[in-house]
Formats: sequence, C-alpha cells, structure tokens
Amino acid sequence: MNFHKENKELQSLLDNSSSESTYLNNLNIHVGNNEHENIVKAMRKFGERVLFCTGNRAMRHYGFLDIYLKLFSKFNFRVVYYDNISVNPTLKQMEEGLTVAKEFNPDFIFALGGGSVIDTAKVISVGLFGDIWDFVEKKQEIKKAIPIVASATTSGTGSHVTPYAVITNTDTLQKKTLKHDLLLPKMSINDLDIIKYMPKYIIATTGFDVLCHATEVFTRNECTNIAENFCIKSCKSIRENLVSSYNQDSVKNKLGMIYADIYAGIALALIGTHVPHAISHPISARFQNINHGHSLAYITAETAKKLIEKKNSNLNNKFRFLSDILGGSSDFVRAVNNYKQLLGLNSIHTFNDMDCQLIYEDTLGYRRDSVDRSPVVLLDEDIKDIIFHSLKNDNAKINKGHHL
Ligand code: NDP
Ligand code: MN
Repeated sequence: MNFHKENKELQSLLDNSSSESTYLNNLNIHVGNNEHENIVKAMRKFGERVLFCTGNRAMRHYGFLDIYLKLFSKFNFRVVYYDNISVNPTLKQMEEGLTVAKEFNPDFIFALGGGSVIDTAKVISVGLFGDIWDFVEKKQEIKKAIPIVASATTSGTGSHVTPYAVITNTDTLQKKTLKHDLLLPKMSINDLDIIKYMPKYIIATTGFDVLCHATEVFTRNECTNIAENFCIKSCKSIRENLVSSYNQDSVKNKLGMIYADIYAGIALALIGTHVPHAISHPISARFQNINHGHSLAYITAETAKKLIEKKNSNLNNKFRFLSDILGGSSDFVRAVNNYKQLLGLNSIHTFNDMDCQLIYEDTLGYRRDSVDRSPVVLLDEDIKDIIFHSLKNDNAKINKGHHL
C-alpha cells in the first residue's frame, strides 16, 4: 500500500529531493478512500496492541470509530481508545491519555483526527518514556517513542507529515511546539472518505492554516529550492481548490486540498514558520475557543503589511510572486484579506487593550525565537502594532472579497 505513487507530481518532487533529506526519505504517505481494511492490515507490522486516539464527536458521529473498532477486532488487535481531546489540546488531556497508555502498554498508536488528535498521539508516544513538559522545556531529551499511524481528518495542519506536536499548557497559558524526528508518523494517511465530512468552518480554518504554512515557509530567508517547490505546489492547489472546496461539495477540490496540505506540511517540516504562527499560538493559548487557523486569519495580513513596509526588495518580490499564484490580487495583503472574506473568517471575539498587551508580552516572551525567524528584522514596536491592529480592526469586515 503506497497510494501516493499514484500522484505523479508528489512522487516526482519526493524522488528529486529525498536523497538530500533523511526526513523526506522517512515519509510514508497514503492518499486514498475506502481503504480502511487495508490500512488496518498494514498496521500489523507495528504490533497487536493499539492505542486508538480520536476526537469525541465527529468520528463517532460519522461511524468511523465503529468501523475501525470492528476492523481491529476482525484482525485480532487488542484495542483501547482515548477520545478526551479538544481543539487546541491541553497538556492535561495529553497526560490523561498517557495514563491510559501506561495502563494498557500499547505497541503503537493510531491517531484518527485533525491536528489536535494527531499531536496528542505524538505526545503520548514520547511521554511513555519521560516527562512531557520537560521535553518541551528541553530539560530532558527525547530518546524513544512508540510508532504512530496518523489518519488526518482535516486538510489540514500537516501534522501527519511533520515531526512537530503543539501543546497548550493551561497552567502557564502557553502553546508550545515539541520537535523531534521520532514524532514523525510511520504512516500518514489521507482518507477522502473521512476528510469529505469536514464542516465548512473547518475547511476554512484548516485551509487558511495550509495557506500560512506555504507562504510563511516561502518567505523565510532559510527557504531552500526544495522547500520552495513544495510551497509553490501548495499555493497552486490552494488557488484551484480552497474556496471551491468551501463553497461546494466537490471530491476533486477536497482531494486538491489534501495535496495542498501535504505539500505545505512537508515544506513546514523542512523549514518552519515565522511571525504569524509565533503570534497565533499565544492567541489560542489565552483564548482556547479560537482555533489555530482562525487565529492565523487575524494576524497574517497585518504581518505581511508590516514586513512589506520594510521595503526589502527580495522579500517583496516573494510576496508579489505568492499573490500571483494565490490569485485575487497582485498585492499579498489584499490577496490574504480576500481569502479571509471568501472563507467567512471574520472576527469571532472582541479583544480589549489588555488582551492585546498580554498576547504581545507572550509573543516576545515564550515565542521570541519564532519572531526572530522573521525574514526582515521587526522591532518590538512592530510586533505590538501587528497585534493591536490585527485584533482590534478586523480587516475582513472592511474588504469585500471577490472571486479568484
Ligand atoms: P482539530 O483537530 O482541532 O479539529 C477541529 C474540529 O473539527 C474538531 O471539532 C473535530 O471534531 C472536527 N473534525 C475534524 N475532522 C473532521 C471531519 N473529517 N469531519 C467532521 N468534523 C471533523 O483541527 P485542526 O486540524 O485544525 O488541528 C489544530 C491543531 O493542530 C492545533 O492545536 C494546532 O496548533 C495544531 N497544529 C499542528 C501542527 C503540527 O505540525 N503538529 C501544524 C499546525 C497546527 P472532534 O470534536 O470530534 O474532534
Ligand atoms: Mn499551522
């Protein structure tokens, strides 16, 4: 089973680049539908005791929890499932899942969900061998993990193809990223049968996340030719599929967004993000009902506006190039606002000055390293401007979106 070979473009990009990166060589991506039985059979090689992580609503509602439980039973796996996983999953939820895992002693974890579920599974897989927050704070080194099989149900966070996991600590009000090669899933499954049930709002927020991965990586000074190619592929697919996938129930568009997510996720794993992600995490850490893609929708246009004002010709050429690919406008700020409008990503929260100040302090505090990855130097005052302008004036309300 190696579905991605069917996608010649993805395969040729991987073939041309994988000799340069162990990470690319370790990718094992499957895109398909109606393959649940084959997927379960393929998991046999990881053992017979499976911890099944999933969310507590959608997968149960659409019957996939049941389908997988029955298949695990048919093929004689021993299964325990854990489903207390929310949007922006918390350290406490991950520790609760870890307690379940320690009692059961799984050989591997099957994660069926969006980024929240996949990240929880990743954290449990290493948490079995040390303290989770000590890993995040680098007080302990990750040395061991049990394998993860990830079936992404959103398109997406790229989490199924990255060695990252994002954790919200509700005691310290921080949202931090754990990084380690061992966090990369051994199998990354994209099942159209499941992804097709994403509600419109999740298509919008996760699609916007994909757009940010591709455009932030592309504008990083460290971006390589290989990563650039993945970003460009992703942006092309976003233009062709994101808004249509939001507006109409088309399998072709949903498949297009699966690939946009994979391409951007690979670029993300190779290079990483910068300022919009650095600010979005403190927003979601303090306001946990604001999901990841929506927090990015607040920040991205104002960040680009501030960066463009710095008049770095190389960077501004990159922004122009990206807006040409994304469509809607030759101006990147307008192009982004246009997507926000077309995807209905308006403000859902009223932020006061104190909220903005705290998010600013968090950003310069525990996300400082991500801010420092900005392609041009941003002063503390610039970051403050971005946060106050983004959160207090909602651009999407001002600009009327037009079709791409
Ligand atoms: P979530 O996993 O939080 O899912 C959002 C909601 O969508 C949930 O309510 C979920 O249901 C529902 N849902 C998911 N899939 C489907 C489906 N196919 N049909 C119907 N409903 C569905 O969203 P994201 O994927 O955006 O994940 C966000 C998290 O990922 C954040 O914490 C973010 O920081 C992180 N992230 C991780 C990255 C990484 O590399 N590790 C990169 C970028 C972001 P239910 O309630 O049942 O779960
Ligand atoms: Mn993201």
